[in-house]
Amino acid sequence: MTTNAQWTERFDATLMKTISTPQALLTRGEGCYVWDSEGIRYLDFLAGIAVNSLGHAHPALVAAVTEQVSTLVHVSNYFSTQPQLDLAERLLRLTGARDGGGRVYFCNSGTEANEAAFKLARLNNPNGSRTRIIAMTNSFHGRTMGAMTLTGKPAMSDPFVPLPGGVEHIDSTIEALDAAIDDSVAAVFIEPIKGEAGVLELPEGFLRHARELTERCGALLVLDEIQTGVGRTGEWFAYQHEGVVPDAITLAKGLAGGIPIGALVTFGWASDLFSKGQHGSTFGGNPFATSAANAVLEHIETAGLVENAARRGAQLREIILGFDSPLVSEVRGRGLLIGIGLEQPVAAQLHAAAFREGLIVNAPNESSIRIAPPLIVGDAEIDDFARRFGAALESLPTQ
Ligand SMILES: *Cc1c(COP(=O)(O)O)cnc(C)c1O
Repeated sequence: MTTNAQWTERFDATLMKTISTPQALLTRGEGCYVWDSEGIRYLDFLAGIAVNSLGHAHPALVAAVTEQVSTLVHVSNYFSTQPQLDLAERLLRLTGARDGGGRVYFCNSGTEANEAAFKLARLNNPNGSRTRIIAMTNSFHGRTMGAMTLTGKPAMSDPFVPLPGGVEHIDSTIEALDAAIDDSVAAVFIEPIKGEAGVLELPEGFLRHARELTERCGALLVLDEIQTGVGRTGEWFAYQHEGVVPDAITLAKGLAGGIPIGALVTFGWASDLFSKGQHGSTFGGNPFATSAANAVLEHIETAGLVENAARRGAQLREIILGFDSPLVSEVRGRGLLIGIGLEQPVAAQLHAAAFREGLIVNAPNESSIRIAPPLIVGDAEIDDFARRFGAALESLPTQ
């Protein structure tokens, strides 16, 4: 057994100071539960931030990657593999991009998928006059230079100026869209639900309006579905709730259930913007990661986990509101991407209280708790959540 004092000392002495000291040293997981080095069991209602779609150590994922690792792990882009082709075809089918001649680019993370989309946007500039890219304030698109520039949080990017040019941030309102979008815009980047900002939904009709304007002006509508995609919100992809068809989406987090992967999926004419040699990745689309994603998507389909996300999400909302706690002001989000708005800036305390109750959630800001459990969550885990979260709420003073 490694005590907390032992591992935190090692962590603080060796890991880059980009994050604060973690909450625990985890040693194993199974389903919706993880165990730490002191033997404590936690109900994981964060799933590695919407990543562990099938929970931990799921037999379908274990079998797929075990088989793949003993067959082919990596081949370079000089070769293709069956899992890569299967995943590309599967994504085009699930997104609906197949019919318009859609295409897929594979990479290794969310930020890389958005970098690819950023470069795609620069290519939507045939006569040199589409120099502007519009993104939303308070959005999150990743941490590399391009994705960070798209991210609408100056506190995050200010230390790293100068940033790539041409990116403007607007508030997520219909009026701001109207004022910003014209023929000089190459692309508009939108998260269908702002997960990192505390699970904030867009105003009613916002995505449809963005689609109409971008279509009229020839700008790309790029949706960052890195957190909302792959069944999380109770549809395969969040734009499917709105009946809009984007020009591109970016995916990562839940796609391969924890194995690193990212993807840019293009629809229609956006699929012809990249030409040979204009982008690439050594690891992107390797048979290991793509076989993991195939196993995850296959299981989500056959086990009906998209429907489960919608149903369990509704159940969780009812439970959270049912506590009738003076601390809870609202429940936001869709399916199993849920933000709990708090009346007071006590998210850090509530998060800590939940952890003491053996419940993993997170606090994306001072007045929001985010929960994003594995898509496999069932009645037993929901009951356990109710017990643990209820106890955490009760343990906090209300003023
Ligand atoms: C997590 C996230 C990213 C960044 O993904 P990484 O894999 O951490 O690079 C980008 N956009 C959204 C909406 C995210 O939630």
